[in-house]
Amino acid sequence: MHLKSMTLRGFKSFASATTMRFEPGITCVVGPNGSGKSNVVDALAWVMGEQGAKSLRGGKMEDVIFAGTAGRPPLGRAEVSLTIDNTDGALPIDYTEVTISRIMFRNGGSEYAINGTACRLLDIQELLSDSGIGREMHVIVGQGQLDAVLRAGPEERRAFIEEAAGVLKHRKRKEKALRKLDAMQANLTRITDLTTELR
Ligand code: ATP
Repeated sequence: MHLKSMTLRGFKSFASATTMRFEPGITCVVGPNGSGKSNVVDALAWVMGEQGAKSLRGGKMEDVIFAGTAGRPPLGRAEVSLTIDNTDGALPIDYTEVTISRIMFRNGGSEYAINGTACRLLDIQELLSDSGIGREMHVIVGQGQLDAVLRAGPEERRAFIEEAAGVLKHRKRKEKALRKLDAMQANLTRITDLTTELR
């Protein structure tokens, strides 16, 4: 599995549609300070489902949308599409090429798609987490992040390892199932009370 290309439209400093093609191996992004190198990495994290504005170096999620410059008005939406080569079947989906897309509108609405078919954020997160690319994005090591891993306490460090090993997904599913069970139990108790009252 490797990243084949990424297209940004209205994402941060990339107002016009910009496509980057990646070959297998190492890709370097080179440019002067403030030219948008980190924005490329932010786009990668964002399209893979990142939900934290701070992780994307913004104050609020809307900050990923092109905010305008002296010569160009702000845009109403940001869009990123990432195409992944899946000939080795690392992603659990029957396609040799997978394109995931994310669109966000300034009014707050969001859309996600896998190979052009609308889907939920959860579908993208689950698709990627099976390949070891998780929602916590530990495959993207940002500036200063190595420090954070080294300074993490035992619990936090365990979460990093679980995420990389793909355990976190199952833990989250278990937590969700337990929450549903709790809600179900509360409903059962309520029904039992009502039946007792009606007798
Ligand atoms: P450095 O080498 O200093 O780390 P960099 O090449 O990584 O810099 P980035 O941090 O990726 O640069 O890009 C910063 C630029 O992106 C700034 O000029 C900033 O104004 C611009 N930018 C960030 N968000 C937006 C936005 N929503 N709309 C327009 N421009 C934006």
